[in-house]
Amino acid sequence: MKDYLIIGHGLAGAVLAHSLTEKNHSVMVIDQPNENRSSTVAAGLYNPITGRQMVKTWLADEIFSMLEPFYRKLEQHLDAIFLQAIGIYRPFVNQEEQNDWDIKQSDEKFSPFISSIRKKHHPEYQLDDRFGGIQLKPAGFLQIPKLLQSSKEKLLHQASYLEEEYDETRLVVASNHVEYNGETYRKLIYANGTRALNTNLFGWVPLRPVKGEILRGKLDKPLKTILNRGVFILPTDTGLVRVGSNYQHHFEDILPSNKGQEEITRKLESLLHEPIEIVDSVAGVRPATKDRRPIIGKHPEYEHIYLFNGFGSKGVSLIPFFTDKFLTYLSDETPLMEEVNITRYYKAYPSK
Ligand SMILES: Cc1cc2nc3c(=O)[nH]c(=O)nc-3n(C[C@H](O)[C@H](O)[C@H](O)COP(=O)(O)OP(=O)(O)OC[C@H]3O[C@@H](n4cnc5c(N)ncnc54)[C@H](O)[C@@H]3O)c2cc1C
Repeated sequence: MKDYLIIGHGLAGAVLAHSLTEKNHSVMVIDQPNENRSSTVAAGLYNPITGRQMVKTWLADEIFSMLEPFYRKLEQHLDAIFLQAIGIYRPFVNQEEQNDWDIKQSDEKFSPFISSIRKKHHPEYQLDDRFGGIQLKPAGFLQIPKLLQSSKEKLLHQASYLEEEYDETRLVVASNHVEYNGETYRKLIYANGTRALNTNLFGWVPLRPVKGEILRGKLDKPLKTILNRGVFILPTDTGLVRVGSNYQHHFEDILPSNKGQEEITRKLESLLHEPIEIVDSVAGVRPATKDRRPIIGKHPEYEHIYLFNGFGSKGVSLIPFFTDKFLTYLSDETPLMEEVNITRYYKAYPSK
């Protein structure tokens, strides 16, 4: 009997699988990837200070102190490099914002996230940054497809990965284990992103998928850091840059659209005054939730069936932290934080 059957090998399922094997649990991961899945399309940014108001993101102190060491360790384990810790440069919108952050530099609540403050134009790029800007840390991006490729190879090597469609109707739920495809597992975890909505076990949880698009283009000079205000611009291995993203709460398909491209291009032009020739675009759907918090924990009826989902637009920063929390919960039942615990939605479960 194996310990865990994990459905989904996006960022959530992959990180979870290796964290469990590191603790000597046996796992089997089933995944049928597609080009629109969130983890393939994502830009992979992690950024402690976000939004128009430039606020510290939820749990920033806890999450960002462990994020880079976590992915560095995973890189060693998977023998691949996918963390690009190149920081983020965010131009100030006015003098007041510059003054404000100048003061925050000596405030210990903010200083860990400030690499430097620039009071004049960035010399390397033609940016709309006449009030200077802030270089943020720890910040950068994760090359998620690379991580997933090396993760898949490692899991295949351990005979712990099946690339196929998981069919819930073939699952047999016994009182203290599950059976699938003739194998028996102590516990089952759904890390299946937005497709949880199509399942019987967790179709009732309030995931609220949000579509997003990202453009790829040619910029004549190399980017040494991520540029971000309204949109982000980040470098890739191929010399192209990626620009995004937008948020569409109502959508009919998962295809790149002219409207999306126009919206991103307009924002890009108000950030960077250098020509970027757009070559293509991609679209995907984020597994976001009604209250913008992950949804983690036990099925209301079955003690050994769990959900690890709802990482929305911040999977890269949230998944390491909540993997640690989830593992502790699984091993000794330490309660999960109320804010992420699936119990907050139990009332939505259509009990028999
Ligand atoms: C445009 C865009 C930009 C983004 N930018 C960022 C960013 O900059 N930073 C950031 O942190 N996050 C970003 N995200 C969000 C990020 O992608 C997600 O938070 C994260 O990747 C979610 O990972 P996941 O494993 O939960 O879900 P997914 O990536 O959706 O993975 C779920 C997996 O489960 C598989 N699966 C489901 N059901 C089945 C089944 N029945 N059989 C087989 N396989 C199944 C799916 O095929 C998929 O491979 C972005 C997302 C989008 C769309």
